[in-house]
Amino acid sequence: MNTQLHSNALHELDRQHFVHPVSSWQGHEARGVRILKSAKGATVTDSEGRQLLDGFAGLWCVNAGYGHESVVEAAAEQMRRLPYATGYFDLGSEAPIKLAAELADRAPGDLNHIFFTLGGSDAVDSTIRFVRYYWHSKGQPNKDQYISVEQGYHGSTSAGAGLTALPAFHDGFGVPFNWQHKIPSHYLYRNPVGSDPATVIAASVAALRAKVAELGQERVAAFYVEPIQGSSGVLVPPKGWIKAMRDTCAELDILFIADEVITGFGRTGPMFACEEEGIVPDMMTTAKGLTSGYSPMGAVFLSDHVYQTIAEGAGPKAVGHGFTYSAHPVSAVVALEVLKLYEGGLFENGIKMGDRLQKGLAGLSDHPLVGDVRGRGMLAAIELVTDKDKKTPVPAELQAATRLFDRAWDNGLIIRAFPQGVFGFAPPLCCTADEIDAIVDRTKQVLDLTLEDPEIRAVLRG
Ligand code: PLP
Repeated sequence: MNTQLHSNALHELDRQHFVHPVSSWQGHEARGVRILKSAKGATVTDSEGRQLLDGFAGLWCVNAGYGHESVVEAAAEQMRRLPYATGYFDLGSEAPIKLAAELADRAPGDLNHIFFTLGGSDAVDSTIRFVRYYWHSKGQPNKDQYISVEQGYHGSTSAGAGLTALPAFHDGFGVPFNWQHKIPSHYLYRNPVGSDPATVIAASVAALRAKVAELGQERVAAFYVEPIQGSSGVLVPPKGWIKAMRDTCAELDILFIADEVITGFGRTGPMFACEEEGIVPDMMTTAKGLTSGYSPMGAVFLSDHVYQTIAEGAGPKAVGHGFTYSAHPVSAVVALEVLKLYEGGLFENGIKMGDRLQKGLAGLSDHPLVGDVRGRGMLAAIELVTDKDKKTPVPAELQAATRLFDRAWDNGLIIRAFPQGVFGFAPPLCCTADEIDAIVDRTKQVLDLTLEDPEIRAVLRG
């Protein structure tokens, strides 16, 4: 295949052959693809030579930013020396062992045991299997019901998509399964119980208790949360929410699984968002920032008691769970290098820049189209409305966030459009103050341009 294909030919090949993840297949045939060619720092260049500030760090994963030679060199050296080694059957290689130890060292509490996956979905799926194995090992095989939170996202394997609560991942796929249940989200901006933090926390605790009572405590195996619900539009719980949910699970003898696929590795400030409330989950899932997107990898962190219980339950038998590419040595060296970058200043910079980003975006709250600005650290979202007092959403058919995405792209900024007129930010932690200011300025320009859009004006109050 000629790699110097003219861009039009590439677009045509894409239409004909490349099935894009989480995209409208039909819409894609009509719209075509935007092709990225290269990147450095927080800036990406597309096939037309246009430079864009990546306000979403790829898919909230390139936390370290693009173009770090130390990472590239480490991966190349590992590929030359030992491109692959299995972790099956008591085999191993150096990098994943070192990485597991480094991660355990930094993990909250006794999350001392690391199982490597290829990304976030199979990390979540692995926990679903480990939870079942755990309760079997404890002689309570009837504990087989799982609870997660409305508007949550836990990946798109069959089982994980059932814990996810976004319609596009359910409709037509036959999930959720009958062992997967939900409680309402804490979604502060549109919570039927109001936005008072104590009331919202009490309502979530009550909802969890009620769901457990309905299913029978002896049947409930695990409860899944994201410290911040990412894919439904960066829904930040009130302070104290995650601790209250963790404590309730401990009291009810339910495993508590924190899905830190987005929030891990400095995205909200600390290494893991769980640290902000000093909680220790029974298991924790990570991916994305683990390798900063330079190569695929996820990790499940298992606490001492979960690990020991499974080990004892299995006895001399193999615990039959793993993937050919679990603990891939190239991804492991990448993760080790990325960790050095994070701790060599990027986490610190991310905290400063996160503060700047939140303040900058909060300054857009008065804009006539902006209903809510929310986030923590280098993770944020803006929710658009047509009437600020009534919080009226922009009619779905106007696809407000997608319009914003298109305009932002034309203005040299990549953001993420979510359904329901929400768009999000998750810039690389390496951003400079000027880059953060540019993200905010361009967002303001794009909001102003959207305000001039006749179709949007027509639905705007006043
Ligand atoms: N869990 C959460 C909280 C996520 O946000 C994601 C992806 O965005 C996943 C799981 C799935 O991860 P992946 O896309 O790497 O499979």
